[in-house]
Amino acid sequence: MSGRDSTLRVGLIYPELLGTYGDRGNAVVLVKRAQWRGIPAELVEVTAGEPIPDSLDLYLLGGGEDDPQHLAAAGLRASRHAIERAVGDGAVLLAVCAGLQLVGDHYVAADGTVIEGLGLLDLSTRAGPARLIGELVVDPEPPLPRLTGFENHWGRTTLGPGLAPLGRVVAGRGDGDGRDTDGVLADRMVGSYLHGPVLPRNPAFADQLLAWALNVDPTSLAPLDAEPEERLRAERLQAGTARGARRWWHERRLTRG
Ligand code: GLN
Repeated sequence: MSGRDSTLRVGLIYPELLGTYGDRGNAVVLVKRAQWRGIPAELVEVTAGEPIPDSLDLYLLGGGEDDPQHLAAAGLRASRHAIERAVGDGAVLLAVCAGLQLVGDHYVAADGTVIEGLGLLDLSTRAGPARLIGELVVDPEPPLPRLTGFENHWGRTTLGPGLAPLGRVVAGRGDGDGRDTDGVLADRMVGSYLHGPVLPRNPAFADQLLAWALNVDPTSLAPLDAEPEERLRAERLQAGTARGARRWWHERRLTRG
């Protein structure tokens, strides 16, 4: 919390538009995992279209369908510099699915509409011929462990030459551009197609983001009883990767509703 007061401010950005897949849970888990350790934390919801403050410690952008995603884009672009300043000052950003697409250059939606992004990261997205739906399992670089989640998107995302993905796809599709990768990891900006919500399913990932925001080593965070989360994680990893199990992802050729 470089230069900020003692309370960790976890920003949930435009949840009315970027909240379709339950990604609010990521913000709740970050607040709780701080509070359970005696670290003052608060959830700061930024209502759709409102200016986004540069004083948050974490910025969470969730998933949304093409139309609400398009509505969110203008407000996000208007606050681009505030987010850029905050990240430059050590804040953390987690952008999931529509959020990932919107922190890039643009997203060509399923009906051909071009949604201009924030341009914070050199990546672009184009809707594919079918939605990618199902369990998604991703192997990031160490020290992050294997990540479990689910995906549900039209978009196929391609990273620019200088960007590293969050990880390699073990099961599911992720970016869906043929490179078997998911998302992006650029210093403290993280993007992914992992819904779930991803942080309740992957407590070590949540603690990594917390540690970045607190400017501490993750190992310095007091251990928490992780039994419920680890049980959920093991179950979902099994569902996503079991040999012979019904592959919980498939391409559904949906007409655009
Ligand atoms: N509307 C975007 C797509 O379909 C994002 C979907 C999402 O956030 N799950 O690719």
